[in-house]
Amino acid sequence: MKLKLKVDDFDSGLKRLKKDYRIFAPKRFEKMGTYSDTDVIRYGEISSFEEMVLDEKSDFSPKETMLPINQVLFYFTEEEYRETSEKKKPVLVFLRACDLNGVKRVDQIYLNNGIEEDYYYNRVRNNVKFVLIGCPETFRNCFCVSMDSNKADNYDIGMNVRGKDIYLDIKDDGLNAWKDLDFEEVDFEVDYVKENKFEVDVPEKVDFNYIKDHEMWDEYDSRCIACGRCNFSCPTCTCFNMQDIFYRENKNVGERRRVWASCQVEGYTSIAGGHSFRDKQGQRMRFKTMHKIHDFKERFGYNMCTGCGRCDDQCPQYISFSTSIDKVSKAMREREEENV
Ligand code: SF4
Ligand code: SF4
Repeated sequence: MKLKLKVDDFDSGLKRLKKDYRIFAPKRFEKMGTYSDTDVIRYGEISSFEEMVLDEKSDFSPKETMLPINQVLFYFTEEEYRETSEKKKPVLVFLRACDLNGVKRVDQIYLNNGIEEDYYYNRVRNNVKFVLIGCPETFRNCFCVSMDSNKADNYDIGMNVRGKDIYLDIKDDGLNAWKDLDFEEVDFEVDYVKENKFEVDVPEKVDFNYIKDHEMWDEYDSRCIACGRCNFSCPTCTCFNMQDIFYRENKNVGERRRVWASCQVEGYTSIAGGHSFRDKQGQRMRFKTMHKIHDFKERFGYNMCTGCGRCDDQCPQYISFSTSIDKVSKAMREREEENV
């Protein structure tokens, strides 16, 4: 069902949905930004249209609504363990096309990358539905068109906003909380961006043996400060560490958590004996870049990066990941010319 309604009526439907769902959308958290006196826009629970921030890109992706930054898996004593329960209400997430395509990549890793599905991811993911927010125009640093992630149709509700009018394309009838409200039936397509402010030259194929020792990675040894912000803002980074927390009151009792990890941060590749596989930042940058535009594609047939541009937005050292992709393409072209 496709309909057009006023913001007040949209809010009435949201209020009804709130009884059964936790509703997440990009939201402004004042004075919580990285620098003093700055805000952060990240996913949080909302109750009304007014709370959603739609005219700016969120600093963090919606990934944290499905894959918590810090997730307790089980509690343990010396003799036994008990799994945590997931008895929360289902989740409804408002997100853009790049991020809905990001969910496909996270699903690929946690649900379709081996014999077993990830149990802890799956039990949350099973309870999540999506509202696709149409993008009438591109934001700074977005390159979703180059990554073929500017469009998505696997949504439960699609939404366009035109001033005080909201357009909804409701595919999941169970989510239609507006049925008996004041609306007009209309035909429309969810907005999607056809052109970003710049294009990225994404390589069709990468010769890893050639690129692995290329001098292009050397500049990152000094520029990258290994803060991990690029990974934590990314909708498709899926790595985590395990942490056992022993309670102060009784050191034989505790909990096991999985916590987001970053391949750019020191210690990520450290093993027993103190060896580290990627000591230099340039090596870590190469690893991240190859994972996003080569390794994942070799395995699953499509690129991991969705071109949301958040890593470029967030890097305190102004390192541009999209430029790294361009550099890989340039190096591959030079390689081909050498071989002619
Ligand atoms: S690598 Fe950067 S541009 Fe690509 S999906 Fe992650 S944050 Fe977005
Ligand atoms: S955000 Fe920038 S400085 Fe920080 S780890 Fe990523 S590339 Fe390095």
